[in-house]
Formats: sequence, structure tokens, C-alpha cells
Amino acid sequence: MTITPVNLLDFDLDGLTAYCEGLGEKRFRATQLFRWVHQRGVADFSQMTDLAKSFRDKLAGVAEVRALPVITQHDSRDGTIKWLFDVGGGNAVEAVFIPEDDRGTLCISSQAGCAVGCRFCSTGHQGFSRNLSTAEIVAQLWFAEHYLRRHLNTPDRVISNVVMMGMGEPLQNYDRLVPALRTMLDDHAYGLSRRRVTVSTSGVVPMMERLARDCPVALAVSLHAPTDELRDHLVPLNRKYPIDELLRTCTAYLASAPRDFITFEYCMLDGVNDAPEHAHALVDLMRAHAAEGLRCKFNLIPFNPFPASGLTRSPMPRVLAFGKLLNDAGIVTTVRKTRGDDIDAACGQLAGDVQDRTRVQDRVARQRTVVLQRMPAPQASGNQRKAVT
Ligand code: SAH
Ligand code: SF4
Repeated sequence: MTITPVNLLDFDLDGLTAYCEGLGEKRFRATQLFRWVHQRGVADFSQMTDLAKSFRDKLAGVAEVRALPVITQHDSRDGTIKWLFDVGGGNAVEAVFIPEDDRGTLCISSQAGCAVGCRFCSTGHQGFSRNLSTAEIVAQLWFAEHYLRRHLNTPDRVISNVVMMGMGEPLQNYDRLVPALRTMLDDHAYGLSRRRVTVSTSGVVPMMERLARDCPVALAVSLHAPTDELRDHLVPLNRKYPIDELLRTCTAYLASAPRDFITFEYCMLDGVNDAPEHAHALVDLMRAHAAEGLRCKFNLIPFNPFPASGLTRSPMPRVLAFGKLLNDAGIVTTVRKTRGDDIDAACGQLAGDVQDRTRVQDRVARQRTVVLQRMPAPQASGNQRKAVT
């Protein structure tokens, strides 16, 4: 019987320490190993030169750093890069790197598909396949960071911000998410500040409460509507956790949050939620909750259309007018820039134009065939392959 090696990307530092102690090794050995893997991007134990040979030999039999195979990589004219990773069973997830003057942001996925089923989201239309493991969440960052360092020929950190805004609802995969967040924050790994790691949620109230206790990072909440009637329709989870309860949970989150505001995301849908009356209703709603201590900013996201949605993007003048109404009422509001347009890397376009899982599976299988033919030999000990451009 063959035993699958333990994937070291599955552990935060505490987890790795416990694992190494189980192998009879001291805590500081686990820290050294953690640094080799995450800070240096090394997957091959034989290259970890300051680890005792006996420890490396022990690891080689039972553990590995197992990356996700890259199916495709698309480079946008504006510097945005999108990777499609194979997570097995015909499923694929995407991560997007967005370079800006003062930061490098990686948007990563938490699930294959999503069970929430928002009307305007192509991942939601795919349905839910499965939760990603901690290793599969971290592998997106591990790969992107070390690929970018090699590609840009720099020893310095390239990714300064992570947003959990790819495929999936991160708070419906809570137990795997938290160790992944801890690894992102750990100074022995990526050392990201809590303010620069953002969990975006459609509003899983009990898990927001737990996140505040377990691992408070910046929070973005996908609101999209000022009333329960409309939000029930756009974000079905609202029927379970309606707006008032959601906003009260946001207010409570601020007590532990690394930032003194919550970001609300609002996808601008033509003729659905973009009228001046919606903006006025939002202002009233936010004023009522501000009285209880809620501080917020709004981020208006022009809808990125996909055929199966039957929805269209609000015209830009309407988006700007909506933003002006909020700003004039004292709510700081920005309009999200669309990046990576030429490679379908914008919000909600992840998984491209696929409309259901069968088609994703077909596409993944097709792409895998093409890409494997072009790909160089696997690197190091994992099944990571060089990215394909
Ligand atoms: N499940 C989480 C995080 C992933 S979605 C959440 O819903 O917050 C990340 C963001 O992209 C959310 O704000 C979501 O509402 C938005 N989004 C989804 N589909 C979109 C689309 N087609 N156009 C624009 N934004 C979209
Ligand atoms: Fe899931 Fe977020 Fe898409 Fe809604 S918007 S279906 S919660 S990924």
C-alpha cells in the first residue's frame, strides 16, 4: 500500500512544530524548515543545507512540498497575471496577481466552486465542488510569490497584499482558511501585516464572529443591496443572515479588526441595484448603523458580465453618480478599477465564461492535455511545473 506523503504546505507554524515533534525534532527545526519552504521557496529537502542530514532523510520518506500544477498562465498587458491551477477531479481554481505602484496584490481562491450561488457571480453559477485544503490555499501564494521573484529577478518580497476574493466563500471553508491566514501573517513565512490580508465574505455571520477571535484580518463584506428583499434575491445567504444582523456583526468585528473600518463591496448591476433610490437607502442604512459604531468604506464594482447571468453592467455615469451620492453623504466610496480585462481576470470572471461544472471539467481536461505537452519537467520534489506563458 502506498501512503501519500504529508504536504508541508498544510501546516501553519504550530502545526508544523507538532508534526516535527512527532518525528522527534525540536521546535527550532520546524521553524527552520518553515522558513526554507515559505521564505526561500525551496521544495527539495536536499537543498535545505542547514537542516541536519538525519532530519532531511526522515522527511524525505514521509513528507513533501506539493505544489498545485499550473494549467495555464495568462499575462495581461497591464501586468496582471492569472494562473489556473489544477486541484484534481476535473476542478480548477484561479489566482490573480495585480501589480500596482506601491503594492503587489494576490487574489486567491478558497473553494472549487461556491455554494452561495450569487446571481451575478460565475463561480456561484458553477455550483459547489469542494473545499480547498489549507495546502491548496497556501500553494497559490507559495507558487505566485516565488515565481514572481524568479521572473522579476529579485530576492525581495513581491506580494504585499492578499485578498481572499477569488473563487469560493472563504468563511464556508473556515477550518482550512485559518491556518492558511496564519501562514500568510507569520514572520517566518510571508510576514504580511493583518491590514494587508483581506477576507471577503458574502456574510457568514457566525464565522465572522469566530474570525474576530481566532485571526482578525481586514474584512470586506459583499453587500450589493440596501434591502433584504433585494439582497435575498442577489445573495441567497441573506435569507439566513439578513442585513441588520450582518451589519451588527460588522460593528462587533471592528473591536478586533486591524483596520478601523469594514469595506463593503457593491457590484453595480444595470437596472437592479444602481438607482439613486438604492444609494439613498444605503445612506440611511449606514447612518443607522454608524450610530451603533459601524465605520465603513464602499467599493463599487462595475459588474463583469458573463452570458449565463442575464445581467448587464451599469453604465459608468450611473456608477459615478451612485458613488457621488454616497460620498456626499460622508461615506468614502471608490470605484474599483478593472484590471486584467484582456485576460478575463476581473472579479467574478474567474473560471472564464464557463457556465456549469461539466464544462469546467471538459475545459480543464482539454487544457491539461495541451499544457502538459508543452510543459518542461516538474521542478524539485513536488508536482509543481514551470508556469506556461
Ligand atoms: N465569496 C466571497 C469572495 C469571493 S467573490 C464574497 O462573495 O465576498 C469576490 C468579490 O467579487 C465579491 O465582492 C463578489 O461580490 C464580487 N463579484 C462576484 N462576481 C462578480 C461579477 N460578475 N462582477 C463583479 N464583481 C463580482
Ligand atoms: Fe460565492 Fe462570493 Fe461568488 Fe457569491 S460572490 S457565489 S459568495 S464566490
